[in-house]
Amino acid sequence: MSITVHQFACLSDNYGYLVRDDATGLAACIDTPDAKVILSELDKLGWKLALILNTHWHADHAGGNDEIKAATGCEVIGPAEVERLSPVDRKVSGEDMVQLGETTFQVIESGGHTLQHVAFYSAENHTAFVGDTLFALGCGRMFEGTAPQMWESLQRLAALPDDTKVYCAHEYTASNARFALSVDADTALKARTDEIFDKRSRDEWTVPSTIGLEKATNPFLRAPILRPDLVPHEAFAALRTAKDNFKG
Ligand code: ZN
Ligand code: FE
Repeated sequence: MSITVHQFACLSDNYGYLVRDDATGLAACIDTPDAKVILSELDKLGWKLALILNTHWHADHAGGNDEIKAATGCEVIGPAEVERLSPVDRKVSGEDMVQLGETTFQVIESGGHTLQHVAFYSAENHTAFVGDTLFALGCGRMFEGTAPQMWESLQRLAALPDDTKVYCAHEYTASNARFALSVDADTALKARTDEIFDKRSRDEWTVPSTIGLEKATNPFLRAPILRPDLVPHEAFAALRTAKDNFKG
């Protein structure tokens, strides 16, 4: 069934997402960067929260779980690693399905940033919530996983249909764009970064993007094209290291 996505800024550069299944009115919160902001957005919308869907265990993604569950009685669903921070009612991993009213989310294993990171994908709504795995023109740092694992995760997301909307968890796009321009001279990238700098100068959001746009312009997904001298996961690793050291 159809969904409505409500996006709002949280903390310094996170996005909060509330998703409503239009048929039943039930809502889910994708990650919990800031309990107070999320509860106040829910209140404004008048939506009933049924689920928290966590992508990974970091505090800017699961730190609001306890307060939101206490206030709403919602169910907490996420990878087992979230229990490093707070209790999870239902633990999920790749290939699991999560139901929000009449809407189905497929859990996509996307480890690398953290070991058990997951994304939530609704095929019928062409929508993926990807946490800190794939960013607009970027990707998450590998805090826990290896380059081959992160590369596999990015390939799983890149295999989704081109028109899939990509809702990532941070507004890192301008910084990602500066790095992308330093490693790739492609004209599609140049056009996209012009638009990004323009939007950010007006404090506008650059998220969501789409899988098609990321495949065409994201240097991490283009790693094998940018570094044909290396096997793909090594090409990816070389770019990730360059980004970790990039000052710009
Ligand atoms: Zn994170
Ligand atoms: Fe994060």
